[in-house]
Amino acid sequence: MDNSKNTDKKGISEIQKKRKSPMEPSKLVQALCKGDKTALGRAITLIESNHSKHTAEANEVVSLCLKKQPKSIRIGITGVPGVGKSTFIETFGQLLTSQGNKVAVLTVDPTSSQSKGSILGDKTRMETLAKDPNAFIRPSPSGLSLGGVTRKTRESIILCEAAGFSVILIETVGVGQNETTVHGMVDFFLLLKLAGAGDELQGIKRGIMEMADSIVINKADGNNIANAKIAKNEFENALKLYPPKENGWRPKVLYCSATENTGVEKVWSTISEYIKEAKETGFFENRRKQQNKNWLYDTIEQRLKSDFYTHTQVKSKIDEFLRQIAAKEISPFLAADKLIAVFKSRS
Ligand code: GDP
Repeated sequence: MDNSKNTDKKGISEIQKKRKSPMEPSKLVQALCKGDKTALGRAITLIESNHSKHTAEANEVVSLCLKKQPKSIRIGITGVPGVGKSTFIETFGQLLTSQGNKVAVLTVDPTSSQSKGSILGDKTRMETLAKDPNAFIRPSPSGLSLGGVTRKTRESIILCEAAGFSVILIETVGVGQNETTVHGMVDFFLLLKLAGAGDELQGIKRGIMEMADSIVINKADGNNIANAKIAKNEFENALKLYPPKENGWRPKVLYCSATENTGVEKVWSTISEYIKEAKETGFFENRRKQQNKNWLYDTIEQRLKSDFYTHTQVKSKIDEFLRQIAAKEISPFLAADKLIAVFKSRS
């Protein structure tokens, strides 16, 4: 067969052009802004890339998307594995899309970068929502530390918003530093709980309760409804011990059944009430501004750290300093000063 027509010089360059075009930041952003989910997926892949050749393109994509500044609500959802996060998001997400919202679901799950595998991603999740044309689901980027995942997720939020997604759900597992990280990127933080499970089992850390704008007791169905009501009282009493939030908001305790779709609407109306109030008082804007500031400082910190530890001279000298510290030949402080001097002199 004669393929010459397809493989002549011009032909190849046409094909290459076609292949390359989705990676061109302006075109990608153009398509993405029209709500093209494939383009959005590609743009996120670009920002997730660790190849330095993609960095400039990725930065351009984010910058172009930032100019759009559409209105959105960012909601963080956390809870221990098994509490029903994905089931809740499946039901909640469908409620939101049925009311005309476009919903993006992002996950912060740095475990996916460890050999243990992902806590969130191992099972088939949110199957119905995934098929909804007004929903977009993107799992946590793999192969990254929490710092890396955090940055990529923050950038993905901006991309999703430019693509017209008006509600961004950011799901995280209730372990480690994840919640604090997610709390720092959302307008509303929702903690899912179970009735009747002890604090230990639920991995309650004081800090998480403090961060929550609402505690939702899930699986309030069947024989569990009575328990959910008791748990609601208990959480309400526990929350009384905390001072009100900066904006005067008293976190609400609710219960729902994600599988039976009861109480889920109340969760949305509570969030809407919160957002309305926060916008009226200016708290919403101020908090986003504060978060932007934090994003800047965090990014600088992460970048400097990673540049430092990947610096060839530093890498080659660090083991020797560690040996000297162990042998008490040098203090860790002086060793740090010396390593920083090495970094500064060569960077
Ligand atoms: P995740 O690990 O937090 O994402 O939890 P999943 O959404 O995977 O749910 C864990 C298990 O709890 C699954 O077997 C779900 O079917 C079940 N589940 C989730 N929500 C509810 C609920 O509202 N009621 C009941 N009875 N079971 C639920």
